[in-house]
Amino acid sequence: MSALLEVSGVSVSFDGFRAINNLSFSIGPTELRAIIGPNGAGKTTFMDIVTGKTRPDSGTVTWGEKGISLLKLSEAEIARAGVGRKFQRPTVFEDQTVAENLTLALKSPRGPLAALWFHLTGAGRQRVEELAAKVGLTDHLSRKAGELAHGQKQWLEIAMLLAQEPKLLLVDEPAAGMTLAERELTTAMLVDLAKSHAVVVVEHDMDFVRRLNCRVTVLHEGSVLAEGSLDHVTADPQVIEVYLGR
Ligand code: ADP
Repeated sequence: MSALLEVSGVSVSFDGFRAINNLSFSIGPTELRAIIGPNGAGKTTFMDIVTGKTRPDSGTVTWGEKGISLLKLSEAEIARAGVGRKFQRPTVFEDQTVAENLTLALKSPRGPLAALWFHLTGAGRQRVEELAAKVGLTDHLSRKAGELAHGQKQWLEIAMLLAQEPKLLLVDEPAAGMTLAERELTTAMLVDLAKSHAVVVVEHDMDFVRRLNCRVTVLHEGSVLAEGSLDHVTADPQVIEVYLGR
C-alpha cells in the first residue's frame, strides 16, 4: 500500500537550533500511528511542518497517490487537501449547541447551487447526525457545547474535524484530562477512525498508547529514534536511555 503522507529527510532550524533533523516518516491511508518522545523531541514542530505552519529548510513532504508536494501549498490548501489537526485544548463554540457547532464545521458543497441544494434537501442535517453518531453525541445534539463534559467536548471537536472530510488526522494528546471510561471510548473511536483515515496521535501517556495497540514512532532530538510496536520500542536500549537517562 502506498503512503498517504511521506516525509523524507526533513530538517528545520530555529535560530541555528535544529528542532527537526533529517526526519523521515510515512503513514498509509488507513493507519493508526502514535508518536511519542520526550519534551522538545520535535513532535509539535513535526505537525507544524505537515500542516504548513512551519516550512522546513530541506527535505520533502509528499501527499497522496500523485505525490504532490505539500511544501508548495498554503496552510489552507493543505487543510483542503485533507490534513486535519486537533489541538489539545478544545476550541468549540461554547454558547452554540452541538448541532450548531457541527453545522458550522461542515464542508459546504462547492458553488452556490450545490450549497442551496445541500441546505434545502436537509443533507446538512443528515451529515450532522452522522457525525454526532460517530462520536457518541447523538443524544446531545441540542445541548450547548459549554455544558458538555470534558471528554464530550473533545469528541465534538473530533467530529468537527471530520466534518471537513480529512484524509489524515493529527491529534494532540486526545486523552489528556479524561476519565478512564472516556479514555476507553476515545481509544475505540480512534481505532474505528483509522479504518477509513490515517490517524496520527501524539501522546505522552504510555498507558493510552498501549491501548491504541498500534505502530509507534519515537522522536528524539528531531529524528526518529525507533519505530515498531510499543513493546519493541520500549525494549530498545536507546529509547530506555532517552526516557530513563541510563
Ligand atoms: P515537542 O512537541 O516534542 O515537545 P517541539 O516541536 O515543541 O517539541 O520543540 C522542538 C524543539 O524546537 C524544542 O527545543 C523547542 O524549544 C524548539 N522550538 C520549537 N519551536 C520553536 C520556535 N518557534 N522558535 C525557537 N525554537 C523552537
